[in-house]
Amino acid sequence: MSRFLSERFAELEPYTPGEQPQDRVYIKLNTNESPYPPSPQVLEAVNREQVSLLNLYPDPTCHVLREKLADTYGVEAENVFVTNGSDDILNMAFMAFCDREHGIAFPDITYGFYSVYGQFHGVPCHVVPLTEDYRIHVPDYENIGMHIVIANPNAPTGIALPLNAIEKIVRSNPDHVIMIDEAYVDFGADSALSLVGRYENLLVIRTYSKSRSLAGARLGFAVGSRELIQDLERIKYCMNPYDVNRLTQIAGIACLESDTYYKTNAENVMQVREYTTKALKDRGFVVLPSNANFVFARKPGIEGEAIYQQLRAGGVLVRWFSGARIRDFVRITIGTKEQMDQLLSVLDNERS
Ligand SMILES: *Cc1c(COP(=O)(O)O)cnc(C)c1O
Repeated sequence: MSRFLSERFAELEPYTPGEQPQDRVYIKLNTNESPYPPSPQVLEAVNREQVSLLNLYPDPTCHVLREKLADTYGVEAENVFVTNGSDDILNMAFMAFCDREHGIAFPDITYGFYSVYGQFHGVPCHVVPLTEDYRIHVPDYENIGMHIVIANPNAPTGIALPLNAIEKIVRSNPDHVIMIDEAYVDFGADSALSLVGRYENLLVIRTYSKSRSLAGARLGFAVGSRELIQDLERIKYCMNPYDVNRLTQIAGIACLESDTYYKTNAENVMQVREYTTKALKDRGFVVLPSNANFVFARKPGIEGEAIYQQLRAGGVLVRWFSGARIRDFVRITIGTKEQMDQLLSVLDNERS
C-alpha cells in the first residue's frame, strides 16, 4: 500500500480470483470455465474486418446485442442491460440500490464477491447461514426487509432452488431488489427470467463466461423491469459507457446464433458431472448435489487443502476455500470426460 491510498480502501479485503499459473501446463478445473471453445459462428464473426474497426468506439448502448438478447429471452430491449462481465453488473447494482441505510442479505457460503462489493461500497451485509446440509432456507429470506442477492445455483455448493422458492422470496419483499445471479443456470436449474414481467423488484443476472465459452471476452447481462435497468444505465454512464468492447459485442451476437452448440455442450457437461459424482463417491468422497458445471466434494479424513495440493502436484488445478464451514471441500470444475479421468487417476495414484 502506498501512503497515497485513500483510507476508505485501507481495510478492504479484495476478492481472490482462481489462480492462472504459467509455470507448467495444468488441467484447469479451478475457475468454472467451459472446456469447449466458442462456437464456429463466433470464430467466424470475430474476423479481420471487425478487428480493423477497432479504431472506432463501440456502440455504448449495445443496441444489436440487446435486441438479440431480448428476442432470445422473450423480453424487450429496455429490459436488458449489458456489461463487461456479470461481476460489473453486481458491482453496479450494489452502487445503484444499496447504501448505508439500505443493506443487503446473502448466504454465509456463496460467491465471494458479494461481501467484497458490500465492503467496497460501505453497505451493511446481513449474512444468513445455510442449513447444516448447505441449503438456502427460504423462510429466512421472506419479508426480510432488505435487498437480497442469491446465486442460483449457489456457488460453490452447486445446489439450486426451484422457481417457486425464488418467487416466494421475490414476492414477499416487494420494496427491495432481489438479484438472482444465474451464472450456472444453464447446467440444469430453473431460471427466474419468466418472473421478470410480473415483479418489478427482480433482477436476473447472467454471464457468457460459463455455459457460453466466453470467459475471456467478458460479457454479462441482466434482465429486469425497465425502471431497474434505467437505474443501472445511470450508473454505467457515470463510469464507463464503453465497457463492452466491439469484438465482445460481435461475439455475443454470434453466440446467440449458436444455441444448439451451447445446449449440446451444457448437456455434455451435465453428463460428465454425473459420471464424476459417481466416480468420486466410489472413492469415498461426499459430493453435494450439483446443478452447476462444478461439484463441491470432500473426503472424510483428508483436509481439503491436502486434496488440492495432491491434485496440483499431479497437474490438476481445483479450487480450495479456507472458510470455516467449507475448508474440508474442494470445488472441481467439470471439464471433458478425459480431463475428469485424469483427475481421477491422480486421485487414485496418491498414497495418503
Ligand atoms: C463466474 C461467476 C460470476 C462472474 O462472471 P463474469 O461474467 O465472468 O464476471 C458471477 N457470479 C457467479 C456466482 C459466478 O460464479
